[in-house]
Amino acid sequence: MVDVHGVHKSFGTLEVLRGVDLQVRTGEVTVILGPSGSGKSTLLRTINHLEKVGQGWIAIDGELIGYRRSGGKLYELKEKDVLKQRTGIGFVFQNFNLFPHLTVLENLVEAPVSALRRPRREAEATARRLLARVGLDDKADAYPRQLSGGQQQRVAIARALALEPKVLLFDEPTSALDPELVGEVLDVIKDLARTGTTMIVVTHEIGFAREVADTVVFMDGGVVVEQGPPAAVLDAPRHDRTRAFLSKVL
Ligand code: ATP
Ligand code: MG
Repeated sequence: MVDVHGVHKSFGTLEVLRGVDLQVRTGEVTVILGPSGSGKSTLLRTINHLEKVGQGWIAIDGELIGYRRSGGKLYELKEKDVLKQRTGIGFVFQNFNLFPHLTVLENLVEAPVSALRRPRREAEATARRLLARVGLDDKADAYPRQLSGGQQQRVAIARALALEPKVLLFDEPTSALDPELVGEVLDVIKDLARTGTTMIVVTHEIGFAREVADTVVFMDGGVVVEQGPPAAVLDAPRHDRTRAFLSKVL
């Protein structure tokens, strides 16, 4: 379970997150919607401690992110321990962020070998299995630049899975893709949802949210305005701000 509790985050005088509470149960998919600048990316970045929270806390399966508690006080984790925690939190970005100088297979093998100390043979076998899962077993030896955007994003998802994360975070995973490539990436994410992968997905794909989300969260102005099952939030929103947003994107 991912537990976001009273999280505030400011950049200088700009308060971007103003007390965010969010619970994502293990095996469930939460889709976050909201206008540009509402704090969606910042929230995802606090979950894996790419941004430090100003107030509040985040825990995954009961383990505090970025901090440890000792004698009633919070101490920030050392960089090494933050990195270790981060291997349990997969992050898929809008722009794929593959290592351009590594083959597809090497992109998947690198972190399990260097961060988790997996034997190379084992990491390669896992990588090939994951590539098959995202429909790219024939691309193991290709370089990222030789792939379409949709294929690159599927590699990025496989790479995140190679670390066996407790939760996968997606920040607008299809918004950099040509329209005809969006479906193949969403299909991979849907397949993960069916097999019980815990995910938080920031997206503007309302159809995907309706089909896949257990919970839809609407954020605006650094707070969760409303959340609930897709049918409730998308078809019968209770807040004017949610209605106004949906009328623009639907
Ligand atoms: P979008 O839909 O456009 O991706 P978002 O909901 O993801 O928007 P964020 O990227 O979280 O929004 O940004 C929220 C606000 O925080 C914006 O006003 C942004 O300019 C500001 N912001 C984000 N990161 C930083 C930073 N590192 N330094 C200063 N301001 C930042
Ligand atoms: Mg964003």
